[in-house]
Amino acid sequence: MDSNPTVGIDLHVHSTASDGTLSPHALIDLARKSKLGAIALTDHDSVSGARQVVAGGVPTDIHFLTGVEISAAPPSIYPGKGSFHILGYGIDLFDPTLTKALETLQASRKNRNPQILTRLNALGIPLTMADVLTEAGDPDQLGRPHIARILVKKGLVKDIDEAFDRYLGNGKPAYVEKYRIPCGRAIEIIRNAGGVAVLAHPGLLKNTDGIGLERIVAHLKDLGLSGIEVFYPEHDSAMQSRFAAIAKRLELLMTGGTDFHGSLKPEVHLGTGYGDLHVPMDVYYRLMDVLAGNGIAAPTPIQQMS
Ligand code: AMP
Ligand code: ZN
Ligand code: FE
Ligand code: FE
Repeated sequence: MDSNPTVGIDLHVHSTASDGTLSPHALIDLARKSKLGAIALTDHDSVSGARQVVAGGVPTDIHFLTGVEISAAPPSIYPGKGSFHILGYGIDLFDPTLTKALETLQASRKNRNPQILTRLNALGIPLTMADVLTEAGDPDQLGRPHIARILVKKGLVKDIDEAFDRYLGNGKPAYVEKYRIPCGRAIEIIRNAGGVAVLAHPGLLKNTDGIGLERIVAHLKDLGLSGIEVFYPEHDSAMQSRFAAIAKRLELLMTGGTDFHGSLKPEVHLGTGYGDLHVPMDVYYRLMDVLAGNGIAAPTPIQQMS
């Protein structure tokens, strides 16, 4: 397959197995049509989409990498509230410890949804579980974005952002905590399942100024982290350079992807994000080298990024 530097990849993609709107197979088709060289499915706390792809057979004209995005509790040195997500790549989809951990996370997500609805009802918003279930591809994977979407459809908010800003976001009146795996344990589970652990979208972590992102990442590296997500639609070029420099100094892999969610985030496109994201194929090969145990993660030189 292609080592041409113009070939792009997408290593952060959600399917209907979590809160994406395209099925796993539709995503593979779209990735092939988009001429991507590689794709990883990284559903929230679920590998059922990746299992479907593997069971159906992966086409020969694209590389497919198994993945997951685990909802993790931040390390105690991190004071902020941003989404602390750990990506796992190249995992054994049937690893028993991973499977059990994902079941625990899914059960917690499921328990949370009725509590969110109760809070919304108390705020005078008449939303039922039946309403919300119409939005989820997999009822077990119902999350806040599905609730947000039904609020939009009912005309109660103008868009998904407003739903999070007014009701569903962390600290907002309908927010309910869910269980998160301690980040060190999440990293350990991914490694134990044969995978590599990567810190997702460091640019979404808030209030890292006091402690410094690099110290947090260094701490995660001590816990077994192998990389950070450098290429991401919300990372502007200054952030991208900053994260690439951190990866280089700490000898961590750089990864990247769009966090594609289909029509739940219609402005983000598979492979290109807002239109200008390019994650080079080389990122995939370096990740494969680390997975194969071919030495430490040598970071790509910064000047090769675009
Ligand atoms: P959950 O797993 O139910 O906690 O929902 C997490 C998902 O909600 C993530 O995939 C995000 O894409 C989405 N999300 C979180 N915060 C926001 C926000 N402020 N605006 C829009 N989407 C958000
Ligand atoms: Zn999501
Ligand atoms: Fe995430
Ligand atoms: Fe994601």
